[in-house]
Amino acid sequence: MAAHSTDPAALDPTEFRHEVASFLIEALSDGSACPAFGAILPPEHHDKARAWQQTLSEAGFGGLHWPTDHGGGGLSTEHSAIWYEECARHRVAPYLNLQGIVLAGEAIIRSGTDDQKQRFLPATQRGEILWCQLFSEPGAGSDLAGLASSAVEQADGGYLLNGQKVWSSNAQFAEFGILLARTDPEAPRHQGISFFLLDMNLPGIEVRPIKQMTGDEEFCEVFFDDVAVPPDALLGQPGQGWKVAMDVLLDERGAFGSAGVISLEQELDALATLGRGREMDAVVTDELSRLVAQGQSLKALLQRLGSAPHAAPAAKLLRTEMSTETNRLAAAMHGASGMLESEQTDRLLYSPGMRIAGGSSEIQRNIIGERVLGLPREPR
Ligand SMILES: Cc1cc2nc3c(=O)[nH]c(=O)nc-3n(C[C@H](O)[C@H](O)[C@H](O)COP(=O)(O)OP(=O)(O)OC[C@H]3O[C@@H](n4cnc5c(N)ncnc54)[C@H](O)[C@@H]3O)c2cc1C
Repeated sequence: MAAHSTDPAALDPTEFRHEVASFLIEALSDGSACPAFGAILPPEHHDKARAWQQTLSEAGFGGLHWPTDHGGGGLSTEHSAIWYEECARHRVAPYLNLQGIVLAGEAIIRSGTDDQKQRFLPATQRGEILWCQLFSEPGAGSDLAGLASSAVEQADGGYLLNGQKVWSSNAQFAEFGILLARTDPEAPRHQGISFFLLDMNLPGIEVRPIKQMTGDEEFCEVFFDDVAVPPDALLGQPGQGWKVAMDVLLDERGAFGSAGVISLEQELDALATLGRGREMDAVVTDELSRLVAQGQSLKALLQRLGSAPHAAPAAKLLRTEMSTETNRLAAAMHGASGMLESEQTDRLLYSPGMRIAGGSSEIQRNIIGERVLGLPREPR
């Protein structure tokens, strides 16, 4: 497959869209494309997704808007958005996993030293490093600043890590994880947290997959028992990890952008097709029309707000709530026989998790109320 133009800045967006579409069509026909899978890489796509990221890298589509001197494509965020939209339209995975290309990659670009950028970015965009996100703990999810995993600084500048994480997607396959741990228990809670790039093969790390209601094991518990973390694993300054993490969460919520709307439209189109030519319950017709209208509003909202950071919680909230409702409606329209068909059942069982992952719907509503609309703060 041909690499895209060597002068990224000169790439006309319309031409770029054509270029992406032909690349994806070719990849679908030769079988190299990894099917789309949403926010978490399912174990059965693991090998295919790794090979796909390698192909993307060779074709110039890995880490599209990362800086060119660190293995990226040097393109604009507009080009990136086109890439995500076309991947959604063709139902192809845009990357190996979100946790690596979006979360870890962007954090390293923003806060990494030159050595960290050189060490991690090219290898990540080639698919040689699979990342996981080690933020949530049994006692710290929505209230992430309540995290208790501790990293105590040692004489050599490294840290001794102890504690537990949970819901860590893809941790059983990951070579590295982005980790939050408390390095100063005396500091105010948001100021004593540091951000690490953790080698998942260090002695003292135990990963236990958790079985979900879909039957898959996509996320894990991760235990740290006296893990010796080297000094160069720290990303940014000690005690300044909260700010790095907040930007990562914004990236995570923003990832549910216009590409998500395209896949939602595809789901709603499929339901409309199913509904045509058969007797429809008036309540189901109402519900389908409401969801289609809401999908158009979401699209308009995203176009108006563009990549403004405050669009991210709204996009995440609307997309995941609509997805849950769309899958419930699909189950109602397919009826009992639909529940025997695995793809439909999987979607129905999977979608409630997306309302929680990356910050629950209730938390997105709080953020929109407090930070976007300026309403009084929730009682803490
Ligand atoms: C599919 C999936 C994948 C995930 N992957 C990862 C991952 O890779 N890495 C990672 O670190 N984490 C991951 N998570 C964890 C996720 O970030 C947390 O589950 C989420 O932040 C919620 O935290 P919690 O589960 O502790 O629930 P809690 O915070 O205990 O919340 C329980 C309920 O209370 C509500 N609630 C809590 N506080 C408030 C409030 N102030 N106002 C109103 N309602 C409130 C919540 O909305 C929720 O309904 C994943 C979760 C899921 C479901």
